[in-house]
Amino acid sequence: MASRKSRKRHIPQRTCVGCREVISKRDLIRIVRSADGVMIDPTGKEAGRGAYIHDQSSCWATALQGSLARALKVDLTSQELEELERYYSQRKEEWEG
Ligand SMILES: [Zn+2]
Repeated sequence: MASRKSRKRHIPQRTCVGCREVISKRDLIRIVRSADGVMIDPTGKEAGRGAYIHDQSSCWATALQGSLARALKVDLTSQELEELERYYSQRKEEWEG
């Protein structure tokens, strides 16, 4: 009997800053605090402190109300908040559609 190759792959788990649920990283959106400020990191590869949010509007609402800033240990500028809100409202329809 041939030994079976394990197909189990390790998927990193991260905590959503909205609901604090720990789920697989690929189901979360990464926000990074880089040298250029706080931004969405669609590739998940930007250097810097990262925070993760579910693609769920309730999680984004909580995150934008302050838990994201706490997770990143930074005060978000109004411009950064605007960028995040714009991203969120663009995606909102997809998530809830
Ligand atoms: Zn969440």
